[in-house]
Amino acid sequence: MCGIFGIYGHENAAAMAHLGLYSLQHRGQESSGIVAVDRELGARAMKSMGLVSEGLGIPDVQSLPGDIAIGHTRYSTAGSSTIENAQPMLARFRDGHIGLAHNGNLTNASELRRNLEDGGSIFTSTMDSEVLVHRIARSSSDKPEERLADALTGVEGAYCLVVAMGDTLLAARDPRGWRPLVMGKLGTATVFASETCALDLLGATLEREVERGEIIAVDRNGVRSSFPLAPLESRKCVFEYVYFSRPDSQVFGGSVDRARRALGRRLARDFPAPTADFVFSVPDSSNSAALGFAEESGLPLELALIRNHYVGRTFIQPTQAGRDAKVKVKYNAVREVLSGKSVVMVDDSIVRGTTTRGLVSMVRAAGAREVHLRVSSSPVTGPCYYGIDTPNREELIAANMTIEEITQQVGADTLGYLTLDGMLESVPGGPEGFCHACFSGDYPTPPPADSEKLRFGCGC
Ligand code: SF4
Repeated sequence: MCGIFGIYGHENAAAMAHLGLYSLQHRGQESSGIVAVDRELGARAMKSMGLVSEGLGIPDVQSLPGDIAIGHTRYSTAGSSTIENAQPMLARFRDGHIGLAHNGNLTNASELRRNLEDGGSIFTSTMDSEVLVHRIARSSSDKPEERLADALTGVEGAYCLVVAMGDTLLAARDPRGWRPLVMGKLGTATVFASETCALDLLGATLEREVERGEIIAVDRNGVRSSFPLAPLESRKCVFEYVYFSRPDSQVFGGSVDRARRALGRRLARDFPAPTADFVFSVPDSSNSAALGFAEESGLPLELALIRNHYVGRTFIQPTQAGRDAKVKVKYNAVREVLSGKSVVMVDDSIVRGTTTRGLVSMVRAAGAREVHLRVSSSPVTGPCYYGIDTPNREELIAANMTIEEITQQVGADTLGYLTLDGMLESVPGGPEGFCHACFSGDYPTPPPADSEKLRFGCGC
């Protein structure tokens, strides 16, 4: 998963992209970058490892002139966290430049790459996204949106893209619509962003979602929409509502905050904890679900775990060693709140179980008498091939243990997960039209035969 941003027709395009990336930081913390296009000077890129605030300084960004810019915050689904794999990509070909930022994961990237390499193409990264740059350059069309459509024909999997080509900004979303992408207006400028929180920061107004299978081109002639790719059944990632997106965002046309509260309320109805004294969340991604649980159950909501905001999200650290170390410095329990109490701890998901086990242990050490763990999603039992970091089944606790075994393993007194139906019925627009493959095993595409993303890092 990554954050992408694009803006057309703003005199400080790179500065706007810079601001937008701050709002999309939660979608990726490994690297960030901006490509800006000046109509006289051409395209320039700036990329850095780490947070936007660490790597992209204001003087650097001010050195990127132009009224078109795209930006990217990255986390990878494979271990290749290097500057070569930072985005946006910027390449030059016979007709000019191609800047590209990608959120998602292409499920047939290996095959596409092999075909390109057989034809003599040379790659500079291990990202699936780079195949798109090659395919755009190979198109014989002279219209940017047609070039992009040519490039995307035969590409499978998840993608939201912003592409700067010549004096045109393009945005595209795959025909199943796995990942969110919205279009907004900032004065006369057109803005694209993974989530609406990036529009809010700029003071831009939301126009609409980029539709499934749509390519939008913005140039001096205005905004053009086309649907060159065959439509497929909607498969919005339900995990965007559960965990990834920010609660102040609208994604897939629905409020993330409302979705999470509804998930929490459903959890309280389906798995009540009548003996508990209060509810608390694993901050921050579970805050809204815990609020929903408290609203529905009538139990008070307490702040029993404090999160250190200067440590990144554990889930999106690329290696287990990094995750383990960070869990220990990321949270602390409030002894005065927990001592002697029976508590409901609401978490949005359990992936590997290591964080959960550490948190339950911490809460008990702070004096909690009973810990009732409630999870506002279904058990994660399979990997994601569409841009989320759940790569190996053997690492997923719910793929290998029963609920009773997980309860024991994490050290809780009771454990309640939402059912698949409960989860899908709670989110805006549900229960149809969502991808829930990592919960249900119902994959919208054939899983790559040899876990493709282990070989080629996801661009997002
Ligand atoms: S497999 Fe899971 S995380 Fe991946 S897109 Fe589907 S619902 Fe989202």
